[in-house]
Amino acid sequence: MEIENDVNICGKCGCEISFGTRYYSIVRNLEVFCKNPETEETEIEIDTSEEVISLCKSCGSVFNQNSLKVILEHLPIPGQETRN
Ligand SMILES: [Zn+2]
Repeated sequence: MEIENDVNICGKCGCEISFGTRYYSIVRNLEVFCKNPETEETEIEIDTSEEVISLCKSCGSVFNQNSLKVILEHLPIPGQETRN
């Protein structure tokens, strides 16, 4: 993936993620579950993929299933966006 500017910034602590440094990339994929007609195997096809946020290794290390649960609780349900 090409990065627009030369610097990659951690979306949580704002530190600069320099070249050669490992970091976490949180990505939102639009996928479709399908069956390959030749192999009969279930496959996942990625329609679009966009990076939501980059996190440095230490910030990303605490991003897990539990953090997602908290985030999901705060996501509005479509049609009920007035909720805070
Ligand atoms: Zn960070």
